[in-house]
Amino acid sequence: MQNSLNSICIVGGGTAGWMAATLLSTSLRGSNIKITVIESPDIETIGVGESTVPSIMDFIQACQIDLKEFIQATSASFKLGIRFDDWLTAGESYFHPFGRVGKDINGFDFYQAWLKSLADGQTTRWLDYSPNAIMAENERFMLPPQQSQNWVFSSYAHALHLDAIKVARYCRELCHKRGVTRVEATVKKVNLDDNEFIHNLELDNGTTVSSDFFIDCTGFTGLLIEKSLKVGFEDWSHFLPCNRAVTVQTEQVNNPVPYTIATAQEAGWSWKIPLQHRTGNGYVFSSQFCSDDKALDTLVNSIRGKMLNEPRIIPFVTGKRKKIWHNNCLALGLASGFLEPLESTAIHLVYKTLVHFIKHFPDNDFDANTEQIFNQKIDTDYEEIRDFIILHYCTSGRDDSDFWRWCQTMPVPESLAEKIRVFRERGQIEHIPGQFFTCDSWCSILEGMKIRPRKHHPLVAGFHSQNLANTLTKNIEDIRATVLKMPNHHEYIQTHCPVQIKL
Ligand SMILES: Cc1cc2nc3c(=O)[nH]c(=O)nc-3n(C[C@H](O)[C@H](O)[C@H](O)COP(=O)(O)OP(=O)(O)OC[C@H]3O[C@@H](n4cnc5c(N)ncnc54)[C@H](O)[C@@H]3O)c2cc1C
Repeated sequence: MQNSLNSICIVGGGTAGWMAATLLSTSLRGSNIKITVIESPDIETIGVGESTVPSIMDFIQACQIDLKEFIQATSASFKLGIRFDDWLTAGESYFHPFGRVGKDINGFDFYQAWLKSLADGQTTRWLDYSPNAIMAENERFMLPPQQSQNWVFSSYAHALHLDAIKVARYCRELCHKRGVTRVEATVKKVNLDDNEFIHNLELDNGTTVSSDFFIDCTGFTGLLIEKSLKVGFEDWSHFLPCNRAVTVQTEQVNNPVPYTIATAQEAGWSWKIPLQHRTGNGYVFSSQFCSDDKALDTLVNSIRGKMLNEPRIIPFVTGKRKKIWHNNCLALGLASGFLEPLESTAIHLVYKTLVHFIKHFPDNDFDANTEQIFNQKIDTDYEEIRDFIILHYCTSGRDDSDFWRWCQTMPVPESLAEKIRVFRERGQIEHIPGQFFTCDSWCSILEGMKIRPRKHHPLVAGFHSQNLANTLTKNIEDIRATVLKMPNHHEYIQTHCPVQIKL
């Protein structure tokens, strides 16, 4: 017999906590499951997390959020991808675009067709076939029209740069309207029952909160999942060298560009994330190779515009909980793990975890099998993203500092080593449905790092060279013709969704 949950208690009012409340209040509508968020007035949120990937648009849609209202409330700008400066060698840049690169030809990945065109003597760039890259180069943007026969419109994808604090605030207001209960208090003690399930929480206001299920969104502490349930942590520091960040916000100097900039530095990399009203800056570095003071100097020297807050040092350990769902507790956001922000995937993982959770939603028998299937799925997501991030470090040609010399011989997970080996041989990337990074994404980083396969797929050799050249030329023309008719990114924002400055 069906034995449904009656209540879910979310602990933590950061981005993860409020995203969870917003999505669950939409998905569980009509179920009579009561949702409570416990938000501490005393413990700070991390407050960074400003660059996203296209799944943020799925989150907005799934939560039935009005896009224009969300953009205005969070001061968001649009993001088409990431520009990587100085990663291969100083002075070299490449772009990792969202969306498709080229159109597959006769059932073969476009990348294979492009390799064949190079072998034929063509000299086009891989990114010439990416609508996102051409939009970014020209600082153009528009939301794709709902109905269009033009293939370029259905090939590009976008995400947002947003103010993380404002996202949490926006979601909190929305949840209030949707009947989510908010308790302002700090959890002092977590009580477990004899079966290692969370029984209740003791709050600093003297009350206790009981619930059928708990979502731990308490940030790096992992108050429920780790401090109480002790599920253990899988440490990936040996694969991901950076373990600290220094961050600061600056006044806007130029109009926001529609991409994040990630610049390789002496002991890590720095980011620039342009919002509508300001820029987010940070330097992610390894404490083994750089002191906090030196990192701060590097960051301050790399920014433009007046600083809007005191720079802040954030230490972190990369890795994930050994179990992200355990008994009646799900860990979400930084409480579940962290993979450093190079590909802006943390908020994506919050959403993906929630999607898996809703799919495998428990009832009161807490079937161990369901929990296990869920954990396997989210582990695979983490490992895929981990490998993709490591790819940026282990393929760098830089040897101009101890940090980059370490990267030259760094340990690499076997899953990634195998991927690179197969790619080097004939340019193939195995993509499993459900994985976040597409073959186009992998090829964009590898091409950016000037890693080309030894040969292409044997069957594309049969493509007629002139026909192929004509098709590729037409693709480039279609993209350019479409993109150059689009408005400038800044003008588009000003016309459609400018931030409302409160006077
Ligand atoms: C340097 C850096 C850069 C990042 N950049 C990006 C990025 O560009 N893109 C991206 O997607 N992600 C990024 N992230 C990750 C992103 O910041 C987080 O994934 C996101 O903000 C979610 O954080 P959170 O809600 O899990 O944790 P937090 O923001 O830390 O929130 C934790 C919450 O738990 C509450 N809490 C803690 N203890 C208790 C208690 N005892 N009782 C009650 N409440 C409690 C706190 O008050 C707080 O509200 C970055 C992270 C770092 C460290």
